[in-house]
Amino acid sequence: MPVYRLPDLTYDYGALEPVISGEIMQLHHSAHHAAYVKGANTTLEQLAEMRQARDLSQLPGLERTLAFHLAGHSLHSMFWTNLSADGGDRPDGELAAAIDEFFGGFDAFRAELTAATASVQGSGWGALAWDPLGARLVVHQIHDHHITVAPTSTPLLVFDAWEHAFYLQYRNVKTGYIERLWSLVNWADVSERFAAACEGRHSGLLVPDGGVRS
Ligand code: FE
Repeated sequence: MPVYRLPDLTYDYGALEPVISGEIMQLHHSAHHAAYVKGANTTLEQLAEMRQARDLSQLPGLERTLAFHLAGHSLHSMFWTNLSADGGDRPDGELAAAIDEFFGGFDAFRAELTAATASVQGSGWGALAWDPLGARLVVHQIHDHHITVAPTSTPLLVFDAWEHAFYLQYRNVKTGYIERLWSLVNWADVSERFAAACEGRHSGLLVPDGGVRS
């Protein structure tokens, strides 16, 4: 029985045009994100079969595969709600104050997250995250979906820098895509995630249709 499911978007595939084309959104959600959901569910089934057969020889590969797909699923679920046709500008309130405190101002933060996203070697993400150990905001550069991210961090704002996120429209100009992505940032969503993270809840559980797990 599948455990994870593909969340519906709260807007049409074309809603983020002209910044992100409807073609990219459709492929990104219905093909790429769906593949991570399927991959996570398939890997869970393979782990169950492995247990039943009492043969743990494939365990290391399956664990790597599960982490890849599960992180891909949760990051994409967050990415869709981090974006809005009505987004852009900059945050206010406690999130704005925290950005000022930990990055020295919004412009410095924006430059840092842009650079982290743009300079990923290979496929990956840039992320604003809450580190509950230090009780501070941090920028992570995530490779693939799950590498070089602290397991205790909770992402709040994620920028997909995989080529499937922009190449059909922006070709090799990744920085052009990232600069325009800022005009879509749904700061209400990021602020909600920040408040949840400060209360000790993982912001990845805030998905529009009630939860990543069915
Ligand atoms: Fe993606």
